[in-house]
Amino acid sequence: MVPAFLMSFFLDRLSENRRDPSGRRWIFVPYDQLTDRVGPLSKGDPKTTGVVLVETSWKGNRRPYHRQKLALILSNLRHFALEQSERGVAVEYVFSHEPYRAILKGVISRLGPLTLMTPAERELREDLRPLVREGGLTFVPHEGWMTGEGRLEGAPPWRMDGFYRSLRRDTGMLMRKRKPEGGKYSYDAENREPWKGDPPAPAPPAFPVDPVKEEVGKVIANKFKNHPGRLDLATLPATRKDGERMWTWARDSCLSRFGPYEDAMSVHSSGLFHTRLSALLNICRVLPREILVEAEKADIPLRSKEGFIRQILGWREFVRHVHARTEGFRVVDGKRTPVTESPGDGGYKTWSGRAWPSSHARGDPDGGAKPAFLGEATPLPPAFWGEPSGLACLDHVVSCVWEEGYSHHITRLMVLANLATLLDVSPRELTDWFWIAYTDAYDWVVEPNVLGMGTYAAGELMTTKPYVSGTPYILKMSDYCEGCAFDPKKNCPISSLYWAFLHRHEKALKGNPRMKLPVASLGRRSRKSREKDLAVFRKVQDLLASGEKMRPKDFSF
Ligand SMILES: Cc1cc2nc3c(=O)[nH]c(=O)nc-3n(C[C@H](O)[C@H](O)[C@H](O)COP(=O)(O)OP(=O)(O)OC[C@H]3O[C@@H](n4cnc5c(N)ncnc54)[C@H](O)[C@@H]3O)c2cc1C
Ligand code: SF4
Repeated sequence: MVPAFLMSFFLDRLSENRRDPSGRRWIFVPYDQLTDRVGPLSKGDPKTTGVVLVETSWKGNRRPYHRQKLALILSNLRHFALEQSERGVAVEYVFSHEPYRAILKGVISRLGPLTLMTPAERELREDLRPLVREGGLTFVPHEGWMTGEGRLEGAPPWRMDGFYRSLRRDTGMLMRKRKPEGGKYSYDAENREPWKGDPPAPAPPAFPVDPVKEEVGKVIANKFKNHPGRLDLATLPATRKDGERMWTWARDSCLSRFGPYEDAMSVHSSGLFHTRLSALLNICRVLPREILVEAEKADIPLRSKEGFIRQILGWREFVRHVHARTEGFRVVDGKRTPVTESPGDGGYKTWSGRAWPSSHARGDPDGGAKPAFLGEATPLPPAFWGEPSGLACLDHVVSCVWEEGYSHHITRLMVLANLATLLDVSPRELTDWFWIAYTDAYDWVVEPNVLGMGTYAAGELMTTKPYVSGTPYILKMSDYCEGCAFDPKKNCPISSLYWAFLHRHEKALKGNPRMKLPVASLGRRSRKSREKDLAVFRKVQDLLASGEKMRPKDFSF
């Protein structure tokens, strides 16, 4: 039965176009496949097609997901249902609190067998596996990707560069007479300018707050009221048209400057010239193939065009294959890694003092693999949940994340993951935090980016070295230090954290050719400095663990 607060405009609108369900082929469309432009839904007559869409609090309550993420999924799911019913497709929209396998079992017994594109999320694949085995559900290839399954060849370690170059050759994208346009496959080395306020960063578009979104806002307030993060319906794209608008904004306002400022960070703009497309790409509202074709044709500098194409054709496809080949990092270096039985809370309990009442039950998919190449196991500090740490860079990025469910790549890599790695934070807990806090996070993308790239938890599986840096990088690439109580040239604790990291992990990193220089510099550091580095590391760990704000005088030893 539908709860009273769900009796709604949405259901009324859906019932206006109610179609006869008999004699149709039925497709299950999960939360992240909201498209009729590829896959089984793009083929055949809408009048003989039906879709099953599921809204289950089981998924939403597995982790304390950001409210904006829940709203993104629910608004798009409901609008997709309306869009399909308007096309003549029959829509079976199910509300539940159970796992997908339990819900679909009942649906299959009523409507017959279902088809769906192979889910991108391993968690969903595992949940549905029993129905596939029983024959009620069939996976067909996911046509939303640029590459087919098995595209990542050879044994690990895997490197994005070679993968990307081979895709450029195979697709012919940015190629002229079988040579890369401009003579180089990558212009990354040229794309490292800080941003000083000029040219101005574009403001992201706003989207209409229609009755469907308003009702989703009420659902969040009723059913998901304990979830963290700010809900802002006006910045939430929810329809197919919104997706198109988001891409038009990205193409016309961001892409020409995308390259030069790709690594820049600023308190004045959380996204700068980044496109904010990931949340929509990851639910198929925007399709990679369509935007890559347009981006290739765009009249913009090559360094920007190539940079953008590399992110989607290269990184996005690469991480998805690494995830699949390692069974979600359960197999690294030929060995099985430990797995958590149930979903982690990303440090929610450490911060709030209350356990998260997860909907996880016996028989549900596990909570993910927990590789830790460097043996890191420190709990994620409450600073990641918004307690001020006193480090302006960290506090600024964290507040953006809880405001928007978004921050751009370099802030994720060189502020959040960097600091967590320097502090020996548990890579699994950090991964769960990213999964919870970002509107674009799903296991196939968040696990490789955090476990594989951000924390070096899988060693050299997909990166050549740990992405760690000290104060100079943040000082050069951002304006965060201008508003910080610490002086980046005199007493910033991140400098000592960097050296202390190298000191603690010297043995593990010594054999890595790309760490030769930093390890050699460490060797030239005096014993006294090394001792001070370790003392700063311990002090920062203690203060952050107790949720205290750091001040320069805490380090006057
Ligand atoms: C620690 C860490 C965690 C991350 N977690 C996620 C995540 O949960 N979900 C997610 O989609 N991305 C994740 N990324 C990758 C990347 O940071 C985001 O895709 C990007 O910041 C999204 O913002 P944007 O759309 O403005 O990207 P833009 O900079 O405009 O890039 C365009 C598109 O390229 C794709 N892309 C770029 N880099 C990557 C990458 N490394 N992996 C996959 N796709 C990429 C995205 O689809 C993105 O929308 C993570 C990166 C790091 C370092
Ligand atoms: S001074 Fe140090 S802690 Fe402060 S913003 Fe700069 S890098 Fe971050």
